[in-house]
This record gives sequence, C-alpha cells and structure tokens, in this order.
Amino acid sequence: MYSPKIKSDLIPILYRLSKEKEKPMTRIVDDLLRPELVRYEEQKEIPHCVSCYSRLEISSRSVTAFCKLCRSETFVLYSVPLNDFKGKVDRKEVI
Ligand SMILES: [Zn+2]
Repeated sequence: MYSPKIKSDLIPILYRLSKEKEKPMTRIVDDLLRPELVRYEEQKEIPHCVSCYSRLEISSRSVTAFCKLCRSETFVLYSVPLNDFKGKVDRKEVI
C-alpha cells in the first residue's frame, strides 16, 4: 500500500512531540490526523440543501427535502467538499 512521506521540516517537531508524549511518531501523526479524517468522512453522511448548503433535518435518506432557509423543497446533498462546507457556514453566520 502507498505510504506518503511526511515532509522533512515536520520531522523534528514530531520527534520532540513523540519524546514529550512518550509515543512513537507514527502514533502522534495518527492521533493528529484521525479526528479530522473522521470528521471529513462523517460530514459526507450529513444531508445538506443543494441551494444554500444548510443542514437538513430529515429522518431517512431521501432525494428531496424541505429546506427551512430556502423555504422550499430542494434536492439533498450528502457529500459536500469540506472547504465549500466551511465557506458556506461562514457565509451563513454573516447573514
Ligand atoms: Zn436551502
């Protein structure tokens, strides 16, 4: 299996962190990456409005749902790229 390399400038920091926490460097990297990757995978399962990207409250997986923000029936997105997702949430908070 392909194992991507970690850039060399991070290694001294990882080394010090591993000594400090008394864990192998691979474990440190795993602990850092895992929560973010789990969050990334989980958000794919969260239904969003195709128009405004707000979260939709639906009880079962369906193709369309009523969006309270758009006040209309919209298509449901189950996979939103994380950057877009964050951007839309920021924009929504400004309103
Ligand atoms: Zn909407």
